[in-house]
Amino acid sequence: MTQETGGFAALDLNPNIVAAVLATGYEEPSAIQHQSIPIILAGHDMIGQAQTGTGKTAAFALPILNKIDVSKREPQALILAPTRELALQVATAFETYAKQMPGVNVVAVYGGAPMGPQLRAIRNGAQIVVATPGRLCDHLRRDEKVLSTVQYLVLDEADEMLKLGFMDDLEVIFDAIPASRQTVLFSATLPSSIRSIAERHLREPKHVKIQSKTQTVTAIEQAHLMVHADQKIPAVLRLLEVEEFDALIAFVRTKQATLDLAAALEAKGYKAAALNGDIAQNQRERVIDSLKDGRLDIVVATDVAARGLDVPRITHVFNVDMPYDPESYVHRIGRTGRAGRDGRALLLVTPRERRMLQVIERVTGQKVAEARLPNPQAVLDARIKKLTKSLAPLVAESEASHGELFDRLTADLGCSARALASALLRKATNGQALDLAAVEREQPLVPTYNQRERSSGERAERGERSERSAGDRERRAPMPLAEGRVRCRTALGARDGIAAKNLLGAILNEGGLARDAIGRIQVRDSFSLIELPEDGLERLLTKLKDTRVAGKQLKLRRYRED
Ligand code: ADP
Ligand code: MG
Repeated sequence: MTQETGGFAALDLNPNIVAAVLATGYEEPSAIQHQSIPIILAGHDMIGQAQTGTGKTAAFALPILNKIDVSKREPQALILAPTRELALQVATAFETYAKQMPGVNVVAVYGGAPMGPQLRAIRNGAQIVVATPGRLCDHLRRDEKVLSTVQYLVLDEADEMLKLGFMDDLEVIFDAIPASRQTVLFSATLPSSIRSIAERHLREPKHVKIQSKTQTVTAIEQAHLMVHADQKIPAVLRLLEVEEFDALIAFVRTKQATLDLAAALEAKGYKAAALNGDIAQNQRERVIDSLKDGRLDIVVATDVAARGLDVPRITHVFNVDMPYDPESYVHRIGRTGRAGRDGRALLLVTPRERRMLQVIERVTGQKVAEARLPNPQAVLDARIKKLTKSLAPLVAESEASHGELFDRLTADLGCSARALASALLRKATNGQALDLAAVEREQPLVPTYNQRERSSGERAERGERSERSAGDRERRAPMPLAEGRVRCRTALGARDGIAAKNLLGAILNEGGLARDAIGRIQVRDSFSLIELPEDGLERLLTKLKDTRVAGKQLKLRRYRED
């Protein structure tokens, strides 16, 4: 055996499984895999505790595949996962690891898709069923025998399943599977509710615990930035100017915040989308696929919607809103640094959230360094660097194709090469600010606070707005409009129960616009602003004349900035 294959090959797994695993590029089993695989192969019940990103899927999938009797075309293993996304991810992992095992069939069973085909797939000989508990119970109500041949049961992300309220469903499922089964439970945390499930439904389980918190976090560079609550979006936009990211996930707490930030990012030209619990399942999947293949670069998500999301391209995690507890912080930043890659995590901290930062530092055993908002010079440098990078390949090859044209243009225009090159640069950069004075003018003031200013920051958050911070907010420049767009205003706002998606839906449906024709939507308490194409605006406003949103007349009007 060569050194590279030693790890997996030493595990007593079927060579076809080992070959498939090595073909996916894994070299060594991770700690949880190394410890769990022999236990599961030996037939023991098991409780595995390890953080996100430690490789739990293969830890159960490989030994289970090893145990499947391919000649029997009936359900033999059942994997329960909290969400549709995770169920699909686990099912895909099984298929990957079973690539060289012909005859293995995997079916994913989850809500939001028709039941008939799922049940047929189970009956047609799938040996491995990956399911969300809720939908599986629906199937059990139709056919109580559907799980009667299952010998291996895995509860993946058990803590999350309980958080989502699947306790009763789990009990129903336990009862529907023969008691002779082998049961394996994986969870990032082991609250008492999980321990009590284990006591009732597992037999003499072996425990595997991977103390991986620090391990998960070490590959990830962490920093925090002190910023006032109402300055988060401009702060994020500023940070993005200088961060060199491939794909980025931004976490916020509310659905509305996913829409607001995604809209602000799109308006700045980023390929961004929101991911929240209101978004239809198949649309969510499309968002994740787009992030994987680069059609999107930024996803703004709530914790639940992003749970378990595994996209190796993610280099950055922005915690725009504080996580609710240190564990979800570790989960969130585990979305980057996947499979040993480097990652960077940024945390925005408002004055009253400083205590949570300390808790996070204590729990992860690491200091989260303080970062500063990049100043205009840094923004300018980053922009020039990007421009340079985008030109480098063109410089190498454009003279052959465009050199003659350049000569002709300088002759026709009677100008110097420098003058023409400057004109071309101006055209190519499309109005972007690329000198210090222009960047300074363009960057809205983002009041952050630091050690010295903290007391005033705290006052401000408690509502005793100091004059200075009130003034800062007044001076905040409006978001610059994209070329060809104008802002429109409606008197409907949050107090009318309006969310950005309602406005978006109404304009898409009744105005017949393409999604990308609509820019940023800002919902304020008593009004909303929507960026729309200037071209054809009159016609659009006429079309929308009688449109109602949330039962009220939209009455959209062009909004004059000055
Ligand atoms: P968890 O369920 O613990 O959060 P996953 O099973 O989703 O973790 O695995 C996290 C990532 O690590 C996935 O991209 C997976 O393909 C990768 N991975 C798992 N095991 C290995 C391994 N032995 N070597 C390299 N990458 C691995
Ligand atoms: Mg997992």
